[in-house]
Amino acid sequence: MTGAAKLLRWYDRYGRDLPWRETRDPYRILVSEIMLQQTQVDRVKDFYKRWLKQFPTWKKLSLATNAQVIHAWAGLGYNRRALVLRDIARAVVADGVPTTESEWLALKGIGPYTAAAISAFAQKKRTLPIDTNIRRVLGRLLLGKTFPTIDDDPQIRHAAESFLPQRGHHEDVPQAIFDLATSICTKNPDCASCPLRDHCKAAKLFLAGRVKIPKRSVKVGNEHHHRNKPFPDRIYRGRILKLVREWGQVRLPTIGPLVDPNFDRKLDQQWINKMVERMIKDGLLCRKKDLVTLPTR
Ligand code: SF4
Repeated sequence: MTGAAKLLRWYDRYGRDLPWRETRDPYRILVSEIMLQQTQVDRVKDFYKRWLKQFPTWKKLSLATNAQVIHAWAGLGYNRRALVLRDIARAVVADGVPTTESEWLALKGIGPYTAAAISAFAQKKRTLPIDTNIRRVLGRLLLGKTFPTIDDDPQIRHAAESFLPQRGHHEDVPQAIFDLATSICTKNPDCASCPLRDHCKAAKLFLAGRVKIPKRSVKVGNEHHHRNKPFPDRIYRGRILKLVREWGQVRLPTIGPLVDPNFDRKLDQQWINKMVERMIKDGLLCRKKDLVTLPTR
């Protein structure tokens, strides 16, 4: 039995039931992919269902204003994603649903991973979306690299050509790998329980205990921190948006102390102003004189 067949057999038995795995609708798949970009699977499940209730189709979403999608996205974080999704819906309504990976990639806001994921999961194309999970499993399995990096992607893609089944459910292979990556082939893998251990080029190293597991294999992003603030700017931007969303309108000079208990007007007002300006540029906020609101368009 091939490695892929063993993996799919394991997936049949242990794969997670996720709502976006029950559909081939490119819209629904895209919604899930954008939501999953920076958010854990368990958190996305409820948001995904709620979003689809409010915006069940490309058309419905394309008609939504910035304020409506910002409200619907409340709690998911990285709010720009809501606007990106709505803008993609507008492009699709205007020009039609893309049918190839390169057409997906041509849409603003869709990167190589997402283009491959929609092509595979919605349109059954034989392509491989490579994210950190897929990279870790296939880099170990096919290349024997214990902690593969992004530089290994071309080699992984090449080696995966003969791993992906030619026919049948090749689109289930990446889904199965996601589940294997989160349950068995984790940072410190449990190779003894892995359905792929007889095919894996790294299994012997791990099983022999010859691999030093780094404390931190994922590089923490270089997020900007203002002065001695305990959180990156992203957290304060989220607080500002939450405030405006809930209050409807807020005067700019009052925002600082409301989002930061240690706010110092002399040292921090510029920082708050800059974040608000940036959010206005991103389409998340609007300002008339010193009154900040959600955008109305
Ligand atoms: S055998 Fe070990 S290293 Fe290889 S894919 Fe399975 S869990 Fe990962």
